[in-house]
Amino acid sequence: PIVLGIESTCDETAAAVVQGRRLRSNVVASSMQEHARYGGVIPEIASRAHAEAFVPVVSQALAEADLDLSDVDALAVSAGPGLAGCLAVGVSGAKSLAWAAGKPLYGINHVIGHIAVTQLQFGPFPPDTLALIVSGGHTSLLHVEDVAKHVDVVGTTLDDAAGECFDKVARLLGFPYPGGPHIDRHAQSGDPKAIRVPQGLTQGKAGREHPYDFSFSGVKTAVARWIEEEEAAGRHIPVDDVCASLADSVASVLARKAMLGCQEYDSRTLIVGGGFSANSQLRAKLLEVGEEQGVEVRIPELKLCTDNGAMVAMLGVNLVEAGVRPSAMDFSIDSAMPMWQIYQ
Ligand code: ATP
Ligand code: MG
Ligand code: FE
Repeated sequence: PIVLGIESTCDETAAAVVQGRRLRSNVVASSMQEHARYGGVIPEIASRAHAEAFVPVVSQALAEADLDLSDVDALAVSAGPGLAGCLAVGVSGAKSLAWAAGKPLYGINHVIGHIAVTQLQFGPFPPDTLALIVSGGHTSLLHVEDVAKHVDVVGTTLDDAAGECFDKVARLLGFPYPGGPHIDRHAQSGDPKAIRVPQGLTQGKAGREHPYDFSFSGVKTAVARWIEEEEAAGRHIPVDDVCASLADSVASVLARKAMLGCQEYDSRTLIVGGGFSANSQLRAKLLEVGEEQGVEVRIPELKLCTDNGAMVAMLGVNLVEAGVRPSAMDFSIDSAMPMWQIYQ
């Protein structure tokens, strides 16, 4: 099937056409620059940017795929989770197009899209596989029975997401938003063992580590306190070492728990997705432990890690292939859509 996917959960307005497992076009417009000076995404600015970019981005995606709207079999749009005003623009736009062209429309879960997109590079999911989602808003391990039908949350962050933790530390270090990529770059010339950064292990009720949950807010606090103490003592802050130590700590705990999950669920494959999977330290660590344990690690190429339309279109293809009934035309956005919900 040929599916047009539309994305507008945060600061990217994106559209793409996927045919089967083939990416025919992928257009992304970002309002990131407009938010940088505020230190975070301003919802009103992002919504207005979506309204302005929607028609040109969708038109370009169809043109680059050499198709008209009448040629696609279905449309898919991110229905959540995300910023309500942003979701509303993409969803109402997608509904109008689907209505006008008489095409079925699927309101999909953006976060599941982040893992679905790996199929463009690695082919269909093996049944009963494990997935690690690491993005700006989410850090979770999922058991994916069938990406079109059933996913279970195995573990999740109890507070901040990995990307959020990087963005917060980046802010302390004076990097502009989003700071994750700056930490990545500085980490490459730092010593990962220079500073002791806690791995954010979470304590279960009996005082034992909860096997698959994560906690990153304490990691940020520990780094913040260390920087404060060093500054108070009049010492110079070794920025590259701070970045390298943070990256090593976060990548290690993610990789360790993901591999533990693969063992317990007997999964020979680990699917990885979300903006934070662009992180070089995490990519290297996951590939290393995967190699050691005989687990094939499927991480998307960089342009498919951050928000895009291809991930939405790919999950749409999965739903069409599985014979899932399209969303009712009056489906609503859900800014807090739970991770186990694949579509509206
Ligand atoms: P969600 O998908 O949970 O709704 P989101 O869409 O805002 O959240 P993404 O666009 O998937 O998040 O990812 C953005 C996050 O990825 C930001 O926190 C950003 O700092 C982080 N990120 C992107 N590239 C890198 C990198 N190379 N190293 C570390 N973090 C990165
Ligand atoms: Mg973004
Ligand atoms: Fe995302």
